This record gives sequence, structure tokens and C-alpha cells, in this order.
Amino acid sequence: MLKIYNTLSREKEIFRPLTPGRVKMYVCGPTVYNYIHIGNARSAVAFDTMRRYLEFSGYQVDYISNFTDIGEKLARTAVSEQTTVAAVAAKYIAAFNEDTAALNIEPATYHPRATENISGIIALVSDLIAKNLAYEVAGDVYFRAQQFPNYGQLSHQPLSELEVGASQRTNDAETARKEDPIDFALWKAAKPGEVAWESPWGAGSPGWHVECSVMAIKYLGATIDIHGGGEDLEFPHHENEIAQSESYTGQKFANYWVHNGFVTVGTDDEKMSKSLGNFVTARAALADFDHQAVRFFMAGTHYRRPLRYTEAGLEDALNEIQRFKVARANLLYRRKDATSGSTAPILSAIAEFRQNFIAAMDDDFNVQNGLAVVHEFIRSANKYAAAPAVKLDDLMAYVGQLDEFLAVFGVDLSQTEGVDSEVADLIVARNAARAAKDYATSDRIRDELAARQIILEDTAQGTRWRRQ
Ligand SMILES: [Zn+2]
Repeated sequence: MLKIYNTLSREKEIFRPLTPGRVKMYVCGPTVYNYIHIGNARSAVAFDTMRRYLEFSGYQVDYISNFTDIGEKLARTAVSEQTTVAAVAAKYIAAFNEDTAALNIEPATYHPRATENISGIIALVSDLIAKNLAYEVAGDVYFRAQQFPNYGQLSHQPLSELEVGASQRTNDAETARKEDPIDFALWKAAKPGEVAWESPWGAGSPGWHVECSVMAIKYLGATIDIHGGGEDLEFPHHENEIAQSESYTGQKFANYWVHNGFVTVGTDDEKMSKSLGNFVTARAALADFDHQAVRFFMAGTHYRRPLRYTEAGLEDALNEIQRFKVARANLLYRRKDATSGSTAPILSAIAEFRQNFIAAMDDDFNVQNGLAVVHEFIRSANKYAAAPAVKLDDLMAYVGQLDEFLAVFGVDLSQTEGVDSEVADLIVARNAARAAKDYATSDRIRDELAARQIILEDTAQGTRWRRQ
């Protein structure tokens, strides 16, 4: 039974979807003013892995993730790139789609954009004003946070603490307009030259938090199952989403709140961020390393834990993938001397690995324990592929299960590029030659691979290869 750590309760809770067999999931997407960095990519990978495991478990997942395509950050990029805000959004949405495709992140069911939802935002803000939960000041509209019961429930902060934090955070001009420092903006009056929309409060644009409320409700309904985002969004963004949404619909907004940890860099594990300037863009990492290795590296750390971004970590991920590839190729290679049919003990052993994997992953998507099961499974597969006699359906059951496990982590070896499967085939042929003490053939294959810049390493776990 799946348990999810809920930020709201600070406990692992049994997952009970609103509709059996379906999951409504909303994940806060990027502000599209720049290329995404590894920290943003990690968040997208973490929630994609979660989604893939839900799908592996038989759920149909309705997955919505937004693009924030307005705001000051886009306006600044438009100035520096001497173009329009719309062109900035189009450029960086396209870049996001390219980077996430390279990381094998499934596209959302739908990626709504803030600019497509202005009328919905105005309707929500108008409703909150009518309920006396929001007020207009000089073209701005603010939410009366004190009026919302349990404001601070998600970030587990008492109101007094929020008041202190808020007064340190906002600038003087804004504080002067607010009734209370913890009130937050739903709508902002247009500044000269800014992209703006007509509204009952004059020309302006939405505050950042409100767009997610509107899009989640519009595309998934008043109550959703899972709401995700980076842990930096817990407060104020998600706290404000709850306050606005629940004030608007009168219903609970999200049943499970999930937050992913940061990416850290350097010996002192500094948080990777645009503001600290210590970031690596996803595309730079993808240009330097095997795409599947980057993906697997990110998917292999539990989503709530910090991810240390190191070259050694990426190398380890690459080595593991090579090990999976060789195991898979060895299984497929044995088809030529396999007899038809299957063996009950082998099929039940594979089923047991599957059960163990589910038990591990059902514990709040514990990928580390899930991968420990996959490693044991690989040992079993290697042993079977080296057995004196094999059955075709057993081989294919191993391959099928391996592909299914790896799909959860976004790794697809069935799509392995031609050269990789050719290399894997040659390695298998070389191992067969060595086993038959045909050293002339095994040396010839090694030389052939060396000529293609492929280095072989014979280890206790089998032969691995890497490019020079
Ligand atoms: Zn959001």
C-alpha cells in the first residue's frame, strides 16, 4: 500500500486517491525567463519519477504543470535580449521542452500558461473581494491572510512568526499599501511599459501565487490528490495557494503536499541556485554527459533528500546503466540457444523481485531501496544468462521486468542507440569466446572495440565498457 510523506501533516500517510485508479496531480512549473538549471531539472525528474511509479502501480495520472510566462523576470530578460516578453516565453518554453525531453520526462497531460488564464484569475480575485477576503489598494489587490483559518498550516509557522518574516521581506511601498504585512498580492497594478491586462481594478497583471490556484482548479477540479513543487515553494507560494483556493471553492485544495529537496554543489554542499550563481544549466550537463546517465543520476536519489551534484555521481550512474545494458544484452544473446517455454521457479523468483520492488517504492517512493532490489534482480539475471540451459520465456520475462523497473526511473534501454547494442553484442560474443577459451577471437573483438574507442573492463559483476 502506497504511503506518501505529506508536508501538511509531516507524516507518511496511506495514499487514498479521490477516484479509485486515478490521480490528479499538479506540479508548479518553471518561470520561463532562462534555461533551467540542474536544480529545476531535478524537481521535474523527481515528480516525473513519482508519476511513472504511480503509472507502474496501475494509476491513470492526470498531470498538470504550468508555465509562468509573465512577470518581472521575463520583462528583464526581454530588455537584455532586446525582444518582447512573449518571445522570451516562447524561446524558454521551447528550451524547457527540449531539455526535459532529453531527460526523458513525460510531457504533462497539459502545460497551461498564466497568460491563457487571465479571465479565470480575474474571476477568482473578484470572488475573494466579494467575500471580503481581499481588498483593492491603488490598483493592487491583496489577500487578507489573517482571515484565512490555519494560515501557516503547511509551513507549520505560527502567525506571529509569519508577521515578523513578512515585514522583513516586503519593500516599504508595498507594506504601506497592505493592511497587514502578511497579506499577499493577488493582482498588481501595471507599471509603465509592463505587459498588462484590463481588470476591474485597472490595467495590471496577476500575482504569482494565484495562477497555480486557478490552473489546478480549472484543469483538475476544486480538490486534487497530489500537489508538488520544490521545498522552497512551501512558503509563501503553496501556503498562499491553499488560502486562495480554499477561500474560493470552500473545499480542501490538495490532499497530499509533496516537496523535493535541493541540489547541492561543492565541498560545503551549497544549494544550487540562480541567485548564488553556482548553477549548471541542464543543457550544459546534457552536452557533457550521457543523457540517460544524467536522468538516472537524478532519479536515483530520494526526492526529499538533497542531491549532491558531482561528476563522480554522474560516472556512477553511467556505470550502472552500462551494467544494465550488458545484463540485458546477455539475456537477449542467449535466445539463440534457448528452448521454448518457461520455468516456474524462475517466473516466481521474478515475481518476488517485483513484489520487493513495490514494497520498497510504496514507502514514499523510496528509490534507493527500490534500486537495491533492481541490483539483486540484475545479479539473478546475470546468473540465469550464464546457466548451461535456458528457456526463452524466462529470458524474456527477465528482460521485460528489467525494462519495467528501469522505466520507473526514466531509463529506456529498448531505445538504446544502435551503436550501444552493437557494442553490447560484441561484448557478449567476446565473453562467449573467452568462456570457450577461444582467445584469438576474444582478443580480436577487444581490438575491434578499442579501434572504436571503447574500453573494456572485466569486473566480478561482468564486463563493463566506456568510451575513451
Ligand atoms: Zn505553483
